[in-house]
Amino acid sequence: MTPIAGTSTGSVERFVNLGRGRVVPYPEPSSDAATKIGKANRRVDTKAEVLLRSSLHRRGLRFRKDHLVRVSGVRVRPDIVFTRIKLAVFVDGCFWHGCPDHQHIPKRNREYWVPKLLANVERDRRVDAALACAGWVAERIWEHEENDCAADRVQRLVYALTDALPGSTPAELPGTRREDLLDVRHDGLGELVGQRRTFSEERRQAQAVERNSDPAAQDLPVDA
Ligand SMILES: [Zn+2]
Repeated sequence: MTPIAGTSTGSVERFVNLGRGRVVPYPEPSSDAATKIGKANRRVDTKAEVLLRSSLHRRGLRFRKDHLVRVSGVRVRPDIVFTRIKLAVFVDGCFWHGCPDHQHIPKRNREYWVPKLLANVERDRRVDAALACAGWVAERIWEHEENDCAADRVQRLVYALTDALPGSTPAELPGTRREDLLDVRHDGLGELVGQRRTFSEERRQAQAVERNSDPAAQDLPVDA
């Protein structure tokens, strides 16, 4: 978001270019709280991202952080990238990415926020489509999701996509965790990766999954 200086009726007014020909007035912060929200939108690790990365790492998964992916004219840095299996994971903030449960449009500066937030969501969908077109799986996690559920979902995807690699032989691991997680694979990989399960479904599934740490989980597929 780069403010553009412009002139209007003698005083300097700033505008924001949202892309695709949309230019809107730069919002005057309505409060200290709004300024804080704006500052929190800087490209830094959010708490949800940090938690998810450390959960995945503890489960033995290896990935790139903020790795640049170039596909179909789109350049994007997903929050977590498994390059070999082409899995891009985004941790989407509820406010910025249009969470159906938690997004609210600020009352002040609506002429800025409505197109800005719409543009964010449109961009997300364009990125998803471009990634899918190039054979990637884009998985989006809401910031509000329970971390264990989110990590389970990503782990299942990693297993399914790793097993789907040409010449791959699914590893024989003792314990039940891997089998539990792979159960979903029998529904069909296309269905698995094409669906976005709801939070409540995920929570129910996760409750059914063995939570105890399993030493075998340290031998999970490694993404180079
Ligand atoms: Zn939310």
